[in-house]
Amino acid sequence: MGVKVEFEKMEGFHKLKSLWRIEYKVTTLEPLLTQAATEEAKEVVDSVLGKTIPKDLPDAVPLIYEGKVVITGNAVKGVFRHLISSQLREAGVFICFQEVKGPNPVGQCPPNNPCFACTWFGTPSRQGALHFSMLKSKEPIEKVLAGDPIPMIAIRDDYGAIDPKARAFLLLAPVKENVEFGGWIKGENLSDEIIGAIKEIQDMSEMGFVKFGGFKTRGFGSVKIEVVKIEKYSTVPFKLEKEYSGEDLKKFLEECREKYHDLMIRGKGA
Ligand SMILES: [Zn+2]
Repeated sequence: MGVKVEFEKMEGFHKLKSLWRIEYKVTTLEPLLTQAATEEAKEVVDSVLGKTIPKDLPDAVPLIYEGKVVITGNAVKGVFRHLISSQLREAGVFICFQEVKGPNPVGQCPPNNPCFACTWFGTPSRQGALHFSMLKSKEPIEKVLAGDPIPMIAIRDDYGAIDPKARAFLLLAPVKENVEFGGWIKGENLSDEIIGAIKEIQDMSEMGFVKFGGFKTRGFGSVKIEVVKIEKYSTVPFKLEKEYSGEDLKKFLEECREKYHDLMIRGKGA
């Protein structure tokens, strides 16, 4: 189950000590399908593909917003939370299991004593200290879609990612490899540990272990994450306190990762 290991507590939401803006980019290493899309999005993709496909419309297409492909902040947050939580559990650090279904969610942490994951990512009843922006493709949809839709025979698991009424033969119109997305994470009163956890995910992604979207078991969704800039703002008064980029950023991220590793070592030792 894991033990309660001391981690650097957040100031709490009643006091705003620092504000953070972590800018990052994401590059697809594999084709990517973000989520089930509306009929309207399918029509857009169909006309972008501009060829006759052996179905009326593709079954799964990326989410589109203002002509760009997007990955929702919530989807990104889910991937980050899952990776950090499961890693910390493996290290023996107590992380609650949230049961969000049903009228009375059980297992979530009490507001006055949240676990590491609930502190930073929130609980069903309370916002966490991290907020994830939408990730947007740098280039418009016409430039980022794979040229040909990918045919596939669906297995039951795939239905979760698409229209449940979809037939067994699917045509997927994913984002191609090597497409760049940009976005940012906003944070309140962040600790070195949580910034180090984000750096840890960046490291995992470089080896292909971070996946977004659907059809993950079919060779979809691997992305490379790279933090490009971190800004720290003081709040009284509100002003930019420090901007990390280039070598500065590299050094800062490595220091933070060290703090995050220390937290895991305390889990093992406890
Ligand atoms: Zn928790």
